[in-house]
Amino acid sequence: MKSYCLCGAILMAAMGGRAADLTVCLETRALVNHFMIERAKLVTVKIFSDAGLRIEWGTRARCANDPRAIYVEIDTDGPARYEAGVLAYALPYGELGARIHVFYERVTKYHGERTAPLVLGHVMAHEIGHVLEGVVRHSERGLMKAMWTARDYFEMENTLRFAPEDVTLLQLGLKTRAAR
Ligand SMILES: [Zn+2]
Repeated sequence: MKSYCLCGAILMAAMGGRAADLTVCLETRALVNHFMIERAKLVTVKIFSDAGLRIEWGTRARCANDPRAIYVEIDTDGPARYEAGVLAYALPYGELGARIHVFYERVTKYHGERTAPLVLGHVMAHEIGHVLEGVVRHSERGLMKAMWTARDYFEMENTLRFAPEDVTLLQLGLKTRAAR
């Protein structure tokens, strides 16, 4: 996912009640602002909630006992082979399970304390989307676009979400993972 731009406030919510569709664990290998990380996690939960899916951030122990868990690793920066605009990448089929790498300094570089959690939350949702969809693709619209525009960053406040076709693929992906 590529970056540049500004955006707005934070959205928080969670789907109460039913069991989580997916457990995600976050590991930090960078010097991070933990308050920002916690806000970003809430943004990611809200994005999936708006798509009708309930994700839950789990502990390391919980993920170790869940073969379908997805790991998000926050790295300081990306390897040099990645262009400067690349913010993260996903390894859906790693030996240690699905793993996402997010480049913290790249994600937060152009964003202040208010907007960085929004961007980070959307980056994590985008990469989790890749893992669940299980196919190499991007969408023409919404959160799964290959490159976000200034307008997309602006819309992160409210409406930048998974496109309907992505919601369908996410639901299919979850069923496939559950059947494994
Ligand atoms: Zn992507």
